[in-house]
Amino acid sequence: MNRFSLEVISFVVIVFLFGNVVAANEWVTREASIMGTTIHAEVWHEDRKLAEQMAEQVLQIMEQVNASMSPYLETSELSKINREASIVPVKVSAELFGLIADSLEYSRLTEGAFDITYASVGYLYDYRNAVRPDSAQIQAKLPGINFTHVKLNRTANSVGFSVPGVRIDLGGIAKGYAVDLAIDRARELGIKNILVSAGGDTRILGDRNGRPWIIGVRHPVDRNRVIAKIPLVNEAISTSGDYERYFDEDGVRYHHIIDPKTGDSARSVHSVTIIGPVATDTDALSTSVFVLGPKKGMELLNSLARIEGIIVDADGNLLYSNGLQTTE
Ligand code: ADP
Ligand code: MG
Repeated sequence: MNRFSLEVISFVVIVFLFGNVVAANEWVTREASIMGTTIHAEVWHEDRKLAEQMAEQVLQIMEQVNASMSPYLETSELSKINREASIVPVKVSAELFGLIADSLEYSRLTEGAFDITYASVGYLYDYRNAVRPDSAQIQAKLPGINFTHVKLNRTANSVGFSVPGVRIDLGGIAKGYAVDLAIDRARELGIKNILVSAGGDTRILGDRNGRPWIIGVRHPVDRNRVIAKIPLVNEAISTSGDYERYFDEDGVRYHHIIDPKTGDSARSVHSVTIIGPVATDTDALSTSVFVLGPKKGMELLNSLARIEGIIVDADGNLLYSNGLQTTE
């Protein structure tokens, strides 16, 4: 199955764009399905050829990240780690090494709420086919979840696991990372106006025809309702929700964001939207805050510079970080 676990499905998710039709035909738009999600690029440059070249590059970058980091491709570096790292440290590319190191930083920052070893249990879920582990299966695999099992050797660029039964999955951070790579490439090419999305992760460089991009945040339960319209220039925005990959059983929702403490889906919020300068961070933080829940999650957001967020809690209440509160 060529499905990236960066598992999201969609754009439908939450973030969608209010299209600005002015001069729309001067913008180059590309959409593709890669990493199990919708990739969307909009580029403007006075040299239209360059804009088209950039849009192609976006798709290429997504394919490259998928080839290296997909847990569904046997040939990916990530799959090799999951097969071998409990036995012998696996040498990997600097890129993958760096993203795993960043993920461990997020684990430390969130006291383990963000943890790529969630996959030690997470791989037992198949949301499409409504398959989940029972509690005995969860208990058997739960000791594999602990980010301190992951041992990095910076000199050798290698990744090892200190115990058997550990698996990692970068689904909570790699789409944001891929979006950042695309934005870096745009900068190198001298592109000043671009939007790149991979599912729920979006980053914008510059404005749209002299005005900010307006990003709509959809209500996670009442899909017709827009809970916020946020004007953005030079920012990233990520959303995590419990309605992207899920199934319901006996009134309980099983979805793709796992609380590392329990091996079960995190259920104290419906969705989290994070805004900040860099998509790798907004992606990791949206997953983190989802697991942390409204109280600890909001405390974390308010402690971080240049990061804002909106949480829709389990009762449907909207909670805004300090920088988004209207002062009257
Ligand atoms: P999406 O991938 O839908 O945009 P997220 O950014 O929240 O949403 O990422 C969810 C993905 O993160 C899951 O599909 C899974 O691959 C991974 N994940 C799930 N639980 C955790 C966790 N506790 N820590 C880190 N990654 C997680
Ligand atoms: Mg995320």
